[in-house]
Amino acid sequence: MILQYQAAIIGGGPAGLQAALTLGRMHVETLVFDDVRYRNVSSSQMGNVLGWDGAAPAALRSAAHSELAAYPCVRIVQQRVDSVREEGSGLVLVTSDSEWSVERLLIASGVEDALLPIPGVHELWGDVVLPCPYCHGHEFASGPIAVISDGSHAEHVGGLLRGLSSTVPVIAPENVAAVTRSVAGVRIMLHDGGVTEVACVFIPPNPIPRSTLANDLGIRSGRDGIEVDALGRTNRVGVWAAGDVAKRADPRIPAAIITALASGLAAAADIAASVAIARDLPGS
Ligand SMILES: Cc1cc2nc3c(=O)[nH]c(=O)nc-3n(C[C@H](O)[C@H](O)[C@H](O)COP(=O)(O)OP(=O)(O)OC[C@H]3O[C@@H](n4cnc5c(N)ncnc54)[C@H](O)[C@@H]3O)c2cc1C
Repeated sequence: MILQYQAAIIGGGPAGLQAALTLGRMHVETLVFDDVRYRNVSSSQMGNVLGWDGAAPAALRSAAHSELAAYPCVRIVQQRVDSVREEGSGLVLVTSDSEWSVERLLIASGVEDALLPIPGVHELWGDVVLPCPYCHGHEFASGPIAVISDGSHAEHVGGLLRGLSSTVPVIAPENVAAVTRSVAGVRIMLHDGGVTEVACVFIPPNPIPRSTLANDLGIRSGRDGIEVDALGRTNRVGVWAAGDVAKRADPRIPAAIITALASGLAAAADIAASVAIARDLPGS
């Protein structure tokens, strides 16, 4: 089955949902594909999100879905896009049971984190082993906060955390045997037999894209994500990127919910403008 839509969004996280809202408000026929593997799924609380500070990430998504239900031109499909191919001036997205013909595409498929291979890190990720001091440091400020990292990441994150806690041990990853939950928060066991108790631990997130569809379309990307301009445009006309999968203008800007929302809005505004231009073309 082939269906024709003015725009499609791959990813129903903050970037994709905000883009869907903007496109819905501009009456652009929009599909949102989401296979629900959100980056922050292991965290029970969000921090540094104005209006939602301390709320559950699922609460924001659920509110977004309720709001989007008021826009009949937006359809959310809870399926993975398995592949994409060019057809004429548009694209065909392939899911397990359908093919969807779309004129424009926003890639908002997010990233996953290749975590340090230290026993316990995966289990505690998003809870007391954390990526971002802006998102979670404040809640643990009454206790020691460790950084398991080295190089410039350890310097940068350690420097930020010293504004929150008076005790910020920085431990090289190769010295750590395991981390476990403890009454204080986290127990760090070292290879030399030493033990450090802290309220929480920060590690480098090491993000990698959740989807390789951009590569299949020949879209330029690097270690920091898909290359985009300020409007989220990629090097391929008709394809935009937003959220964590897109390269930020400056790596010091946090990859966070607010920045994902903002980039989703910017890309969607440009998509809506391109729909308007196409509508006004002679003969259309
Ligand atoms: C542990 C942790 C905690 C965090 N806590 C905070 C916090 O407290 N505050 C804050 O501001 N930020 C926080 N962040 C950062 C925040 O989660 C991200 O910046 C934000 O989720 C990025 O939004 P996104 O829409 O780009 O991607 P995501 O939220 O990851 O959403 C992308 C969606 O696209 C889907 N997808 C991918 N490929 C496909 C495909 N082929 N077909 C269909 N769907 C697909 C994914 O399954 C996913 O559902 C945290 C990050 C981590 C790792």
